[in-house]
Amino acid sequence: MLKINSQRLQSDIDTLAGIGRAENHGLYRQAFSDNDMLARQWFCQRIEQAQLQVHIDGAANIHARLGEFANNKPSVMTGSHLDTIPGAGHLDGALGVLSGLECLRVIQEQGLSLTYPLEVVSFSDEEGRFGGMFGSQAIAGQLTPKRIYDAVDPDGLSISDAMQAHGLNAMDALNANRPPESLKAFVELHIEQGPVLHRQGLSVGIVEGINGLFKWLVRLKGQANHAGSTPMDMRRDAFHGLAEVAMQVDRVLEENGSARSVATIGHVQLSPGAANVIPGVAEFTLEVRDIDEQVLEILADAFRRTISAIARRRDLMFEFEVLSRIHPVKCDRAIQEVIKQHVLELGCADFTMPSGAAHDSQIMATITSAAMIFVPSKEGRSHSPDEWTAWEDIEQGANVLLNTLYTLAK
Ligand SMILES: [Zn+2]
Repeated sequence: MLKINSQRLQSDIDTLAGIGRAENHGLYRQAFSDNDMLARQWFCQRIEQAQLQVHIDGAANIHARLGEFANNKPSVMTGSHLDTIPGAGHLDGALGVLSGLECLRVIQEQGLSLTYPLEVVSFSDEEGRFGGMFGSQAIAGQLTPKRIYDAVDPDGLSISDAMQAHGLNAMDALNANRPPESLKAFVELHIEQGPVLHRQGLSVGIVEGINGLFKWLVRLKGQANHAGSTPMDMRRDAFHGLAEVAMQVDRVLEENGSARSVATIGHVQLSPGAANVIPGVAEFTLEVRDIDEQVLEILADAFRRTISAIARRRDLMFEFEVLSRIHPVKCDRAIQEVIKQHVLELGCADFTMPSGAAHDSQIMATITSAAMIFVPSKEGRSHSPDEWTAWEDIEQGANVLLNTLYTLAK
């Protein structure tokens, strides 16, 4: 069984955690910011120091390569992202990129021969500063000139201008696409960003799929009226409708969803929104996630029927628009088996789970066989400076990745 060099990986993680760190301990390496560029520069140096090949594609994704790339053999790819949200922790993305680099270093040092070349990729803008997953979407051939032209950050800065400031041309991303036959597999190691592994005291999770979702903007319309002079039985209070919908969420999931289903009413707005006026309109978001496409369809139907029945009973008008729809992605069965075999070899329990968060893997799954390995996040905390994973768990996860990559590439 192969083992990573624990000290070397730890030192890389510590060094990267110092790039873009603010006084509040949060990391600020938003895509194509100065800090992101510093991290990229450092990562390229680490690749060169390891005497691996550096390749930077049109979307500014950084690849480290080991093995023969000239003879059209498909590569086994791993990786994640170096960019962060504002105020991030030190492991989201960084873990997958640096562990991937460490795996290539070990395989190279041991002089192991490979049938398929290996590459680690650091994807640009996974966190979606410019609205998508720019790097992996470019590799998967999902970008168009218009999408690139329209990509702006919340302050209105375009990705073209942000990249231009560092001498990069955003339109070059159109050349970054990889034909599916150039890839054999993609495997990503990532922190869970949820509480499941930590609560169960497990070191490693095998991801079976990545949640899909639908997000609706729901509007219940009643009648705004005087809060003092309108008797209770003559009201059409939109908020009462919304409150009843909220109370039905658990039941709808229990009766129609799977054990993995989750639903959230995350944003609510009442109009006119005054203490002395009966709410005439209640507008709210309903976001529902599951790992299975069919379950999502059944849930969409169940929520539509439930809300419509509540509206009818309360004499409210019900309408909704679909804000987004993301299809769930299943991880590759055969790769899950390889991961499981190495998880057991390392003495860990084999535990299969869905990913609640979005990752580059779901984009990569559209062009190749993809899989993910999770390590625990303490208390489920992520996207915060409190993000933390015990070193023993990181080590186990990286060793699972190392052995999985070697099995796939040897
Ligand atoms: Zn991430």
